[in-house]
Amino acid sequence: MQSPAHPHLDALISLDRGHLIHPVAPWRKHEQRGVTMLESGQGAWLKDASGHQLLDAFAGLWCVNIGYGHESVVQAAAEQMRKLPYATGYFHFGSEPAIRLAAKLVEISPASLTRVYLTLGGSEAVDAAIRLITQYFNNTGRPEKKQFISLQRGYHGSSSMGSGLTALPVFHRGFDMPLPNQHYIASPYPYRNPVGSDDAAVIAASVAALRAKVAELGAERVAAFFCEPIQGSGGVIIPPKGWLKAMSDAARELDILFVVDEVITGFGRTGPMFACDAEGVQPDLMTVAKGLTAGYAPMGALLMSEQVYAGIADGAPVGAPIGHGATYSAHPVSAAVALEVLRLYEEGGLLANGQKVASHFAAALEGLREHPLVGDVRHRGLLGALELVSDKSSKQGFDPALGLADRLFDTGYRNGLVFRSFGDHILGFAPALCFSEDEFAVMAERLRKTLDDVLSHADVR
Ligand code: PMP
Repeated sequence: MQSPAHPHLDALISLDRGHLIHPVAPWRKHEQRGVTMLESGQGAWLKDASGHQLLDAFAGLWCVNIGYGHESVVQAAAEQMRKLPYATGYFHFGSEPAIRLAAKLVEISPASLTRVYLTLGGSEAVDAAIRLITQYFNNTGRPEKKQFISLQRGYHGSSSMGSGLTALPVFHRGFDMPLPNQHYIASPYPYRNPVGSDDAAVIAASVAALRAKVAELGAERVAAFFCEPIQGSGGVIIPPKGWLKAMSDAARELDILFVVDEVITGFGRTGPMFACDAEGVQPDLMTVAKGLTAGYAPMGALLMSEQVYAGIADGAPVGAPIGHGATYSAHPVSAAVALEVLRLYEEGGLLANGQKVASHFAAALEGLREHPLVGDVRHRGLLGALELVSDKSSKQGFDPALGLADRLFDTGYRNGLVFRSFGDHILGFAPALCFSEDEFAVMAERLRKTLDDVLSHADVR
């Protein structure tokens, strides 16, 4: 049943147009288009301000992993706000939820990680990693180790330094990025890899590229290699199984730190709690966010090994503070939310449900493999993509002038389905772990209709 439109919708659209800057949007185009105001959510479903019901196949921004409307999370936040809404983590202060959260993250993450720095989100966690790695090498007598390597098409946030490890053109253009000490190797992109899609060849090419880049820069000058286990914002690029382990082994051998960015892949998104778990990878540092609080409050974290922690702690002048922190580091309300969200993944059965329904997610996408627009179908756990092509054999994309991304998004929206488009031709999906088999059937039906609707326009063929 459609509910009436929000009584102040027109006024709000006008205020939005005049004042609110929308991240990662073309600003002027947004003013012309106007905001799509979302109003409420329950489970896997969203309702916008005109009462339109939408199946959210992207979990907000790949973060609302538990789905909307969990009362116990609301309670956890309210209780903490009532008791103590804020406690600084600065100096020697702290709060119970932050302490418990740090211990819980150490318990559930790879064994190599023992120390936790709680941030406001993923970008800040990546930035903290870069700053603290710099301090680590300065403090441990290797100040020349300052070069950072990441993957083409990688995304590591949009902070002033992290955006340089992000290797997507719009995050660099006009921002004078990357920094001179930031370098890239090719993406392990099976569908479009010059070495072909064979698993072993893709892995070998990545390892060889890392070795070559480190040799070019000089191992004694390279600090770290950053990667996502699955490249999210770069187009949901899923490397072969074994790739992450091979890269971590290579990094260890090359004497550079291995930093895994699990901001998207953490907390059951790909099946296990962390993507690292599937391959027994023990990173030196790991960044998380998104699913940590499932979007109910802002928070991320940087986890590090005892070795990195000790290098920073013991290498600093005795008694001197380590000058990195923010007012809201280890925020107690966000920490209380995160603790309840982590309880829901485990005791609440959401992790198990995500693993159980992953085959229905896979089936919903695989059912479209023969669709005339679909060139590649890829998925792992509850993370997946369709890559659209105008010609399946040449893998030719579409003329950007067609504005396919906007058309797909708008058509999907009209059909009651939210997903995300990357570039002009990749559709990404990251449904909440609470999805049911029936909801995946709805997703499949609405997605097929969306592709058919777009295909029916003469200019797309
Ligand atoms: N790393 C990865 C892999 C991400 O996907 C993102 C966000 N999409 C970030 C870092 C940055 O996180 P945030 O947006 O919370 O700052």
